[in-house]
Amino acid sequence: MGFTSFSFRPQIEAGIQACGYTAPTPIQQQTMPPALAGSDVMGLAQTGTGKTAAFVLPILQRLSEGPRGRVRALILAPTRELAEQILEAVTELGRSTGIRGVAVYGGVSKEMQLQKIRRGVEIMVACPGRLLDHLQAGAFRLDKVEVLVLDEGGQMFDMGFLPDIRRI
Ligand code: AMP
Repeated sequence: MGFTSFSFRPQIEAGIQACGYTAPTPIQQQTMPPALAGSDVMGLAQTGTGKTAAFVLPILQRLSEGPRGRVRALILAPTRELAEQILEAVTELGRSTGIRGVAVYGGVSKEMQLQKIRRGVEIMVACPGRLLDHLQAGAFRLDKVEVLVLDEGGQMFDMGFLPDIRRI
């Protein structure tokens, strides 16, 4: 089974090819059809099984139509390392789509993050604590979000992020 059965737009197919993926992994085969259809999906798979692309590709497909310059997909992740890895997948798979992403996490300048957001982004990858700081400061709004991903949900809950996530 190749990627063609998912009918990704050509710009997204180009990203898949550039990343060297020839066939979807099991988690991708199982979760992408309902995600592409707009259903809620819960997936469980170990690191290294392709789960990031399993949610990034359907997001890119959805966002390649419709308005630009507003955050339409929010991906929450427990650590800055994971947030950066997800942003890398967004950037690589989405390189031909013109869709832009930003990572938002603590320990670095808030202003740099805000500058990037003001220039226009469609996908935000964020750690809950720093995102909540920005939201409580009224730095930006997330009222146009259509897709929400909780990556490593179990770890986020173990780390005590549940109250923050509820607020977000
Ligand atoms: P993850 O499970 O998201 O941490 O992904 C692990 C690695 O698998 C990453 O380096 C991806 O680039 C790679 N990957 C994701 N999907 C595929 C695929 N369909 N074929 C080959 N490699 C893939």
